[in-house]
Amino acid sequence: MDDRLFRNAMGKFATGVTVITTELDGEAHGMTANAFMSVSLNPKLVLISIGEKAKMLEKINESGKFAVNILAAEQQEVSMLFAGQIKEKREAEFDRIQDVPVIKDALANVVCNVYSKQVAGDHTLFIGEVQDIVLREGSPLTFFEGKYGQLAEGQLA
Ligand code: FAD
Ligand code: NAD
Repeated sequence: MDDRLFRNAMGKFATGVTVITTELDGEAHGMTANAFMSVSLNPKLVLISIGEKAKMLEKINESGKFAVNILAAEQQEVSMLFAGQIKEKREAEFDRIQDVPVIKDALANVVCNVYSKQVAGDHTLFIGEVQDIVLREGSPLTFFEGKYGQLAEGQLA
């Protein structure tokens, strides 16, 4: 099957946008990701999927922890920065929760320890056990058909 057909099909599933963050040897690293889901309430587990070529893969393998930062509508530039879509070098500012760097002003910071992992094709699925959560009010950045967007006025809380 053609890759483009697969990506076009997956792009029909509208998602929010997260930045996955971790730290290794005192250096924070972030990566934009929309492959994220809630898995279990007891214990509290979430899942992310990291491509085999992503630098993030080795960093989470080694650090054993990560945060999922759910981006607000105003944070498209943050998503672009951590997806490598902004060419110039920029400093990123992080907050910290439980010694893990997290994205400032995200709608949610969900801090996890790696609970289990499974290589699946060219990605690795990490299940994270949630250690701490910080929430903020706001509306989400969305991703649909390969494009960023926001909820329409009537859909906002
Ligand atoms: P790099 O490419 O080196 O880093 C990513 C970018 O973040 C670079 O521009 C880097 O400069 C910047 N950066 C990282 N840390 C810092 C820091 N401390 N200070 C300043 N800048 C920093 N890929 C997946 O594997 N899974 C997904 O679920 C996924 N979903 C995506 C969803 C969307 C909407 C988009 C746009 C992309 C998605 N990607 C996903 C692709 C992924 O975001 C990119 O391939 C990314 O570049 C991989 O990052 P990396 O870990 O290889 O690191
Ligand atoms: P796109 O049209 O490539 O993405 C549409 C959908 O296809 C995504 O939401 C995702 O569900 C799926 N997808 C895309 N690339 C994938 C991959 N390598 N593995 C598994 N699923 C994938 O959108 P775009 O604007 O061209 O994306 C920007 C870049 O970010 C591309 O390089 C894309 O590959 C990457 N990306 C990767 C993932 C992922 O690895 N899970 C998800 C989204 C985007």
